[in-house]
Amino acid sequence: MKTTLHTEWTVADVCKGFTYNELEGRGLFGLGGQLTIQPEYQRHYIYNDGKRDVAVIDSLLKGYPIGLFYFNRTDDGRLEVLDGQQRITSIGRFVTGKFAITDTHGNVQYFSSLPLEQQQRISQASLLIYVCEGEEREIKEWFQTINIAGVPLNEQEKRNAVYSGEFVTAAKRVFSNSRNAEVQKWSHYVKGDVKRQDYLEEALRWVCDSRQVSIDDYMSRHRHDSSISELEGYFRSVIDWVSATFTMVERDMCGLEWGRLYETYHQTPYDIDRVTERVLALRADESIRCPRNVYEYVLGGEQDKSLLQIRLFEESTKRAAYVRQTEAAKERGVSNCPLCAVGDNANRTRIYKFNEMDADHVTAWSKGGATSVENCEMLCRTHNRSKGNR
Ligand SMILES: [Zn+2]
Repeated sequence: MKTTLHTEWTVADVCKGFTYNELEGRGLFGLGGQLTIQPEYQRHYIYNDGKRDVAVIDSLLKGYPIGLFYFNRTDDGRLEVLDGQQRITSIGRFVTGKFAITDTHGNVQYFSSLPLEQQQRISQASLLIYVCEGEEREIKEWFQTINIAGVPLNEQEKRNAVYSGEFVTAAKRVFSNSRNAEVQKWSHYVKGDVKRQDYLEEALRWVCDSRQVSIDDYMSRHRHDSSISELEGYFRSVIDWVSATFTMVERDMCGLEWGRLYETYHQTPYDIDRVTERVLALRADESIRCPRNVYEYVLGGEQDKSLLQIRLFEESTKRAAYVRQTEAAKERGVSNCPLCAVGDNANRTRIYKFNEMDADHVTAWSKGGATSVENCEMLCRTHNRSKGNR
């Protein structure tokens, strides 16, 4: 990667042709149209709080440094701001009269009302700008380094920066647009913040997992595609499948691995009424310690009980059952393991100690048996194990 330090550009140069889009809250262009200030992947302008934006202007007036700027030279030779877009937008908005500062005498001053000498101090201030050219991988590494200083970008925001292009622009229009009315529906299943690219990341993860490629590979390969039909189509297939299979909308459905579940189960036919009935029944079952996994459990035909983490019997419950069984067994002169007590075996009259036995559901949990003292039965280790394996 090649970086070149430029000191010849002044505020006036950088702000030449500055435009600010009020609707999108973004500073758009500078350097006479050569520079894109807030590319698609950048966060929207957030310095317009009367503090941070004013601080930038104060610093310029006092001749204080306002830090380094990093521009990226794109394939077509234009420049994009990688780091510094908030400061540049603040300056651009000030010199175009979008906000005012309060001077040392307590007077409100727009740029145009400042004494000429102060206007010039601002416009002729030179900025320290690094222009970077290089391979995507290098730029990505470097971008991660410079971002340690500012508000850190998350992984997807960084990917959007590194692979910026038509594909990201088109994808953001669908998945990063909080005005998209569908986001409300998607939010039942997808966790996170639309503006922080969480929906885009999930959509990419789903399609990439199904194709067994990394998100980076995928974005790199499709970087210059204007169509996002595969990404969008796959995402919609998953959402449609989930909402058709599960008629309820529960809070814990949000953020489940729907992409993986879709891949595994979307070709399996389901009786939707039965699915609804089973999900609602299982969600009401207090023995289940992991109710979020009820959906996957039902999709899998209620085979994998380990998903649910069925609650075990309490120690006090086991003790009570042990005492009850042992007293009754001694009276009848048989083993306190009810399975040893029946039939012909060497342990027919054996009284086991508490720590030689384990608790078991009389009526199996899967057949509706509760994890209660009434449904608790102590078995010797051998019988418990053989019963558990069935
Ligand atoms: Zn036994």
